Amino acid sequence: MKEPRKILVTGASRGIGQAIAVELAQAGYSLLLHASVKENLYQTIEQLPAKAEYQALAADFSRPDAVGHFIQQLKKEHKDLYGIVSNAGIALDKPLSYQPEREIDLLLQVNLKVPILLGKLALKLFLKNREGVCINIASCIGQMGNAYQSVYAATKAGLVALSKSWAKEMGQLLPQHRVRFLSVAPGLIETDMTTNLDEQVLANYQSQIPANRFGQAQDVAQLIAFLISDRATYINGSTISINGGLL
Ligand code: NAP
Repeated sequence: MKEPRKILVTGASRGIGQAIAVELAQAGYSLLLHASVKENLYQTIEQLPAKAEYQALAADFSRPDAVGHFIQQLKKEHKDLYGIVSNAGIALDKPLSYQPEREIDLLLQVNLKVPILLGKLALKLFLKNREGVCINIASCIGQMGNAYQSVYAATKAGLVALSKSWAKEMGQLLPQHRVRFLSVAPGLIETDMTTNLDEQVLANYQSQIPANRFGQAQDVAQLIAFLISDRATYINGSTISINGGLL
């Protein structure tokens, strides 16, 4: 029997990443679940189907040494990786004039540099394997900009540019392949990242969403499962918005 395809989901401990992990496990993929520490993954593991194949991996993405170790571990032990969902991210909303440089560095490190390093790994592995899918979780904020989220917005817009560029790079490197690089740009999804937002801010967002509701993590997870599957083999380099009509 063929081995199930192996997918890495970063930030799989809660919110969107957790929903993606559960959805992919239900679809029969083998999972590498990542969080900053392994204990944070217990809740996700509890929700997986009984026969799910998974391995828990930990790395604090704010620490370059931990990221280096994580990438080395993937290179050594998971050469057969079929997919990467770069989902881990932080927001740190603040007016730019009050944003300390260390927060700017942290946003760039966690939201942009780590996905770049994972994309580099994907390019190398997928080039060898001639197949694979890498999905960066961007954001509607990267598409429309937002007050007090400028650095976050820049990191998310960066992910869109990276996915498009990697798709083109792979096309140049290999004439025949089944490799895809994509980004998904969610609108407002109910998770820890958004539930603490000011009521007025939330009401203002909701008034701009034609669907008249916030999204659920599962909405994004179902889209990811489709994009990873062989039903989406002609979707490459694209940014797929999932935002209830916000933009
Ligand atoms: P969340 O509930 O806050 O979860 C964030 C995830 O990222 C957690 O699994 C967390 O792991 C991981 N993470 C954060 N900092 C990390 C670090 N230093 N090292 C390793 N892992 C770290 O966020 P979410 O709402 O699900 O968002 C997931 C992704 O979707 C993010 O990239 C976010 O920007 C994007 N997004 C979210 C929304 C939304 O409305 N929620 C909209 C658009 C885009 P730990 O539990 O170990 O900390």
